[in-house]
Amino acid sequence: METEKPMLDRAVIDALFPADLPEPRHWEARFPARTLPEGARVTRFGPSPTGFLHIGAVYTAMIDKDVATHSGGVYVLRVEDTDTAREVEGALEQFGRAFEYFRIQPDEQQGHGDYGPYHQSARAEIYASYVRELMRQDRAYPCFATKEELADITARQQAAKIPTGYYSRWAIWRDADPSDVQAKLDAGAPYVVRFRAPEITTQRISYVDAIRGRLEHEANRNDVVILKSSDTSPRLPTYHFAHAVDDHLMRVNLVIRSEEWLSSVPLHLQLFEALEFEPITYAHIAPLMKQISGGKRKLSKRKDPEASVDFYISAGYPADAVLYYLRGLANGSLGELPLAQALTTAIDLDKCGVAGPLVDLVKLEDISADLIATLPGADILTAMRSWATEFDAELVPVLDTERELALRALAVEREGVDNPRKDLRKWSDFRPAYGFFFADLFTPLSGPDDERLASLSLPAGVITDFLADFAAGYQQLDDQPEWFNQIRELAAKHGFAANAKEYKKNPEGYPGSIREASQLIRIALTGSTRSPDLHAITVALGAEEVLRRLRSVAG
Ligand code: GLU
Repeated sequence: METEKPMLDRAVIDALFPADLPEPRHWEARFPARTLPEGARVTRFGPSPTGFLHIGAVYTAMIDKDVATHSGGVYVLRVEDTDTAREVEGALEQFGRAFEYFRIQPDEQQGHGDYGPYHQSARAEIYASYVRELMRQDRAYPCFATKEELADITARQQAAKIPTGYYSRWAIWRDADPSDVQAKLDAGAPYVVRFRAPEITTQRISYVDAIRGRLEHEANRNDVVILKSSDTSPRLPTYHFAHAVDDHLMRVNLVIRSEEWLSSVPLHLQLFEALEFEPITYAHIAPLMKQISGGKRKLSKRKDPEASVDFYISAGYPADAVLYYLRGLANGSLGELPLAQALTTAIDLDKCGVAGPLVDLVKLEDISADLIATLPGADILTAMRSWATEFDAELVPVLDTERELALRALAVEREGVDNPRKDLRKWSDFRPAYGFFFADLFTPLSGPDDERLASLSLPAGVITDFLADFAAGYQQLDDQPEWFNQIRELAAKHGFAANAKEYKKNPEGYPGSIREASQLIRIALTGSTRSPDLHAITVALGAEEVLRRLRSVAG
């Protein structure tokens, strides 16, 4: 008969932990099962505070919140800060800001909820209770392997062309003699705690993912680290262990997380089993992708500015446009509904694809332009002012003091027309598209040599004479064609061709055509060769400001 492997004494194990460390049953009672309606989903979002919030994180959090809310459940924010080395100051504020912007604030988070603490770094005692319990049951053990020893194991495995890892006979502390363990402990050697992977009975395991259906994977055989080294303080668990304990004690029943964790499921199922926790349903979300020449790849934090949540917030994409777009990526059918309906219709995990959807900024901008085109001017100003307080401080007093002008400017070709202008895709588009309306944001032309006039190739004398004459007889007429006639008549008087065709026939005979004449006025009034309807602009500006701008060129 095979002899039983000698186990570490319970007293030896218990001496590794504080004497007053609660038993798991204490935590089980402290965090009881939730009373929720049948079918309610408790979801959580577990970002790590690394200072970079990926748009994919907002995507996942949005799905978390949506599924919880529509099922009458709870959506928890748990900050996964066990990797203190990667932590960045201000990261939590960044989450707060992004969650507020995209209206994905959690139902429970640090300082709010009965299942906390919600920061993993504040849960060391809870994890320790469960680590001790696993050790007492010999499902976990202390491992004193040094970095050099681990590197040597990997090298030998590579040389032998077998899978690398800390498992079976390679796991040098898995079946160590208790006296060797005691000697290391007595010497104060640092150690990690490893999970004792079950002896492999079947090579593959199978489970059902809420998005992908039934999946099969090779079973885990690695004795993974569950508690980091004893020479670190605070002594924290690894992600694998922490998430299992937290999801169980926070009474989460649906883990929605990114696809990168798919390969860890076999380990996670073993951990749940060893900890005697009810298994939890997993839903692994396909990553957001980017089109590149010859294919697609994951949206990359390093290469793609649009991977960062800050990109959307600082450019001022309205949250509704981004959310509508993201919801369409999650469930194609939502992208076909009108925006308001798509924002309130539940996301269905069954309809989430397994291939990563492409993030197409052009499409997002179209959605955003369509949305902004439907907003009343006053709503645009409110949203834009709130954006500008953080991202364009100079714009705020302008919007405040020139509110009426801003409303008139926004009304140009937007109000009372069938096809409203769609030149605002994000709030940062306002200044380039509408800034010229405001005296404080517009630099009048310096004179006929101003380079903004260069593309017209008109002699300086023609420019000054024409504009001076236009200013002298200027009438702010209500009727567009009548108003435009002033330009037409003046252009003829100053020798411009009546139309482009005539001008083309005899370019030497004219300084330009009516086109160049009206462009001259457009540039004098707006600084640009492209603008909304000139007459409408002059109505918004008022005659006084029109004249000021004309005279700045003509002297
Ligand atoms: N902290 C993990 C991450 O940022 C969370 C994974 C999970 O949701 O379980 O990827």
